[in-house]
Amino acid sequence: MSAAIPEILDTVSSFLEGEHQLLIGGRWVPAASGESFAVENPSHENTIANVAKGGAADVNAAVKAARHAFEAGPWRRTNPTERSQLLWKLADLIERHTEEFAQLESLDNGKPLATARAADVALTVDHFRYYAGWATKIEGETIPINSPDGNAYLDYTLREPVGVVGQIIPWNFPLLMAAWKLGAALACGNTVVLKPAEQTPLSALLLARLICEVGFPEGVVNVVTGFGDAGAALAAHPGVDKVAFTGSTEVGHEIVRSSAGNLKRVSLELGGKSPAIVFDDADVELAAAGVAGAIFFNHGQCCCAGSRLFTGPKVRDEIVERVSEIARNTKLGDGFDPATDMGPLVSKEQYERVTGYIDSGSEQGARVLAGGSARPAGLDSGHFIQPTVFSDVKSDMRIVREEIFGPVVCVQSFDDLDEVIRRGNDTTYGLAASVWTRDIAKAHKVAAGLRVGTAWINCHNVFDAAAPFGGYKQSGYGREMGRHALELYTQTKNVIVNLG
Ligand code: NAP
Ligand code: MG
Repeated sequence: MSAAIPEILDTVSSFLEGEHQLLIGGRWVPAASGESFAVENPSHENTIANVAKGGAADVNAAVKAARHAFEAGPWRRTNPTERSQLLWKLADLIERHTEEFAQLESLDNGKPLATARAADVALTVDHFRYYAGWATKIEGETIPINSPDGNAYLDYTLREPVGVVGQIIPWNFPLLMAAWKLGAALACGNTVVLKPAEQTPLSALLLARLICEVGFPEGVVNVVTGFGDAGAALAAHPGVDKVAFTGSTEVGHEIVRSSAGNLKRVSLELGGKSPAIVFDDADVELAAAGVAGAIFFNHGQCCCAGSRLFTGPKVRDEIVERVSEIARNTKLGDGFDPATDMGPLVSKEQYERVTGYIDSGSEQGARVLAGGSARPAGLDSGHFIQPTVFSDVKSDMRIVREEIFGPVVCVQSFDDLDEVIRRGNDTTYGLAASVWTRDIAKAHKVAAGLRVGTAWINCHNVFDAAAPFGGYKQSGYGREMGRHALELYTQTKNVIVNLG
């Protein structure tokens, strides 16, 4: 007997039906324009909420509130232990609302409830706890310097917050991306204006309520929901000291350009075209499940998705058969149905983008081994795509070169280690890679040879709040998570004291 489909919690229903305004300076306010926009459930294409459509005027107000909170509010005087406790309390409160967050994320993004619970919400809780720990450990150093004049000198450094931070996030892991941005920024004492993706603004709004509830001072976190123009206003704003962005490489380029006005600091976590490399000596069962998960997890909507699969000549047939089998057997459906393995893509726009890529692959001569762009049987509405496996691909095809951001993998063969490193690196991206082999030396050589920010060995998509994540090349710069994220959100002041 199959497990029952859970009901939408009363708390989630009433949240959805409520008003969704902007959080500016500790108050919930409508957009200056008075406009709102509809939020869709991508499984059924129905509207589930209406959210304020913030624009440049609202970004102005939010930046002003964040500036005031940074310079004049109590946040500046909040000591590290208090910041730590606020972050820890926030983590506890999110954990207590796990089911609400999981349901909202599933309704808004389409992902299975089980994934939302185990990945999105659980990692979010961990993430805030991890940075709660860092708030009390952000230290400067003392530096022995030469005396210019025979006097004694003391030189020390202070790690100070950057100031007002603009954070722009995507729709693939809406809550978790908010956590990746907010955790380190708040631990370091910055104030924030957060712009969630237009497709998935809901969990950030629930998070904002909890941020108010645990007692972060007003204006420390401001949330402006809206479209790309709100993000652009934030990136260009002269009152913003730093912008942190996760999303497409194309918008990343625009952000760098518009940040130039006041030379604000920028960190970017952009796209990828990550290789998953299976050597002939791999554990085939582990590798096949692993490389399938590498591309199909979260419907392929991961910046580090293993979208280029390279196989050694001896394991090729078995890996391809097993991955194709997994693709064919993936059960698509509503994220609330416990039988669902994979939900829909997030939006009609993404659906058209991904099916367009699949069609281009077929037109350019690649062979579809599983899936394809046809609507999966029995699903008349929703942005569903059957996981798709391509073979017979050439390295200049669009499906091999461009980020698809859907459950589509291209299989290629290789003969030796140097060749696969060279081909793995033959991309403008450099976010991640996985290597599957029982030979430890080979695994480390490949990890060293690939120009990527994360190399996984006999695994893929393993994340931890303590482990840095970010890109080489056009996958961006700066590292989120771990102690590395503190670099993004602090600046160093050097103090030189003449002791006489
Ligand atoms: P996107 O346009 O880069 O959106 C990411 C965020 O940036 C959203 O909050 C977006 O607002 C905002 N934004 C859009 N234009 C902006 C601008 N000119 N200045 C500042 N902020 C701006 O990504 P998308 O259109 O949602 O997806 C397109 C492709 O991007 C995907 O197919 C995928 O290839 C890639 N992508 C990568 C990641 C990743 O994790 N690296 C995540 C998502 C998408 P709106 O929501 O209103 O557009
Ligand atoms: Mg966009």
